[in-house]
Amino acid sequence: MPNIILLGPPGAGKGTQAKRLVDTRGMVQLSTGDMLREAKTSGTEMGRRVAEVMERGQLVTDDIVIGLIEEKFAQGAKGGFIFDGFPRTLKQADALAEMLARNGQALDAAIEMQVDDAALVARITGRTTCGNCGSVYHDVTHPTKVPGVCDACGSHDLRRRADDTEEALKTRLMEYYKKTSPLIGYYYAKGQLTGVDGLAEVDAVAAAIAKVLDKA
Ligand code: ADP
Ligand code: AMP
Repeated sequence: MPNIILLGPPGAGKGTQAKRLVDTRGMVQLSTGDMLREAKTSGTEMGRRVAEVMERGQLVTDDIVIGLIEEKFAQGAKGGFIFDGFPRTLKQADALAEMLARNGQALDAAIEMQVDDAALVARITGRTTCGNCGSVYHDVTHPTKVPGVCDACGSHDLRRRADDTEEALKTRLMEYYKKTSPLIGYYYAKGQLTGVDGLAEVDAVAAAIAKVLDKA
């Protein structure tokens, strides 16, 4: 079963493509962003601290994120895992490699979704997410068929993320370039990196990812 990483800056389209792979291939999406947003609602002191860090656009500490991933990974995935938004630091990448090796598994591909920074502001500030099923929309490029109603599950709970502001995006991008972009070199050196054009239409990006998976 293939295990893949979707790598790219905030707004690159990782969540959108991960959801499609869940629907089309029965893979399991492990989004650390989603897990942390869930932790935020837990009402614990840890949840409150995580919420503050996320709202500023900074990265949450490695230990918290690695712990969350290990917990979900232990539940297994018949169709393989999609790591979405993880790893984001070299320490996380090493932890992932160790976790896979410990379990007799391997990484099949790290897919870099290549986009222009200029496109990201428009993508992020137009994003809404269904609070019930996690479907991702965009006010302009991918609106819901009925305004305010999720196409997938019919929920009216369409939300904008607290960190989807131009201000927080500046910090998120800086965090990406300082801490996450070195992973492109890391996976290239391991012979696991494949780039796809993340500026193409959603269907075309999905087709490019399918090609990578079919070779894995
Ligand atoms: P990420 O998970 O990488 O932060 P998302 O998948 O949430 O990114 O996508 C960010 C925004 O961009 C969403 O509003 C989504 O609908 C939109 N989007 C995703 N992929 C594309 C694409 N290929 N073309 C245009 N808009 C896209
Ligand atoms: P995302 O949903 O992937 O855009 O992530 C939203 C926010 O969650 C990020 O800006 C970080 O604050 C936090 N986050 C998500 N994944 C990680 C990770 N792997 N390492 C550290 N922080 C993370």
